[in-house]
Amino acid sequence: MNTKVNQVVILGGGTAGWMAAALLSKAFSKTNITLVESDQIGTIGVGEATIPSIHFFNDMLGMRSTEFAKATSGTFKLGIQFENWKAQGEQYFHGFGSTGLGMWAAGFHEYWQRGVELGISKPFGAYNAEGVAAKQNKFAHEQNGLNFAYHIDASLYAKFLKQVAENNGVKRVEGRVAQVNTDPQSGNISALALQNGQVIAGDFFIDCSGFKGLLINETLNTTFVDWSHWLPMDRAIPVQTRLQGDPPPYTRSIANHAGWQWRIPLQHRMGNGIVYSSQYMSDDEASKLLLDTIEGEKLTEPRLIKFVTGHREKLWNKNCVAIGLAGGFIEPLESTAIHIIQQGIMQLIKYFPTYGINDLEVNQYNNYMVKDYNEIKDFIILHYCQTERDDSPFWRFCKNMDIPESLKTRLDLFKKTGRFVQGKDEVFSDSWLQVMIGQGLIPEKHHPIVDEISEHELQNLLDRIENENKQKIDKLPSHKAFLDKYCRA
Ligand code: FAD
Repeated sequence: MNTKVNQVVILGGGTAGWMAAALLSKAFSKTNITLVESDQIGTIGVGEATIPSIHFFNDMLGMRSTEFAKATSGTFKLGIQFENWKAQGEQYFHGFGSTGLGMWAAGFHEYWQRGVELGISKPFGAYNAEGVAAKQNKFAHEQNGLNFAYHIDASLYAKFLKQVAENNGVKRVEGRVAQVNTDPQSGNISALALQNGQVIAGDFFIDCSGFKGLLINETLNTTFVDWSHWLPMDRAIPVQTRLQGDPPPYTRSIANHAGWQWRIPLQHRMGNGIVYSSQYMSDDEASKLLLDTIEGEKLTEPRLIKFVTGHREKLWNKNCVAIGLAGGFIEPLESTAIHIIQQGIMQLIKYFPTYGINDLEVNQYNNYMVKDYNEIKDFIILHYCQTERDDSPFWRFCKNMDIPESLKTRLDLFKKTGRFVQGKDEVFSDSWLQVMIGQGLIPEKHHPIVDEISEHELQNLLDRIENENKQKIDKLPSHKAFLDKYCRA
């Protein structure tokens, strides 16, 4: 299609729709953008934990971290505490930021491993500043060198983005799409016909309509790549409670016999939820397990959300790009959905079809997005397949399942040689090491260069890292004190 793109229509006003509207309107001030949403349908209303890549998005909108936390009733997140994942009763911390020191020939983990063999290393997490600070409920700003993300109230986030987008000239139309019009020759989408009689025409459409994918799926019938044979979770039940005590600067992920629960602290409330596989746990059992284990007064009623893990084979098809749940979904174990939304928008800006749609650019876009989905999928599977748990049919399935070749290669390399290789543009780096080791995958060997230093030198190195982290963290205020000082609305 060589038509110039002047009129962009975004369908959906959830996190995906308003993130797209806010950033596209900032990037392309001469393009007309209309966003259609339906209050009657509403949004999914979950999606409250982020990863550090969100700073890039906020920077582009000119948003400071304390302002952002204030606008979203947010708290700071230094990582995720995984409980009962490797084995019941055990926990480890996936902290943002790197563990130990950056080294080039052998990774820090290989020095750490030799220390384990000599009996002088502490647990791997003891050398990750974010994890150590999190467990002491400490937090302060970028200047202190801690890598962080946020826990946010999704509805306040959408409200905030809406304001940014409308200030940039985005036109919001309230109404429910009754019919999608397509061009009979090209098959491109030409307009959205609303139930109230309005017709919203456009040159280019962004499908942010949620799981059903009204444009990418129901109109363009784009193939869905189903990953449920690797990730059989297909249900979630969220419920909010009043916050008890001070909010910790981390998310908790607590595994059970057929899934896991999240705890996401905001300034004013705790987000709780259970994610599970309906093959291994009934909805009633999941709801009971969730309600029996939450703390504090219930602020919302639990509600069931069904999903299938996977993504559209083409995230960009004809004159439509799917962003957010319409494009795909991977369970929220590592809080990656908002990151994928952000990637979808940034890649769209990179390949924006102002002068017409070019198939070569469409392919680039799709390849990039599919690579991102794949990396995240592999990372999530790691949490399940690398486990010592075999106490339930679900965990026995996870322990014995076939895993994707890409993941198998990465895990085999690490196990047999201690080498960890990161691909270009991958979102997670040190995180892989923390989760592999946290889940009990310890390499059979370390790099020979590690043996070039004496045991005494190794001990000094480990102590130095610990002491430097301690000195940095001792100076930090508590997370609550930081929130009180800079981030209360
Ligand atoms: P939705 O919020 O569903 O929005 C869809 C929009 O389309 C709505 O505005 C709706 O009105 C509109 N619409 C639909 N049909 C029509 C129609 N016919 N006419 C007009 N308008 C229409 N992500 C994270 O990053 N971190 C997390 O911790 C996290 N936790 C999650 C937990 C769960 C259980 C789930 C299911 C998801 C989680 N996510 C998380 C993902 C996150 O919630 C979503 O990626 C994010 O909210 C984006 O949703 P969306 O905007 O694509 O869809």
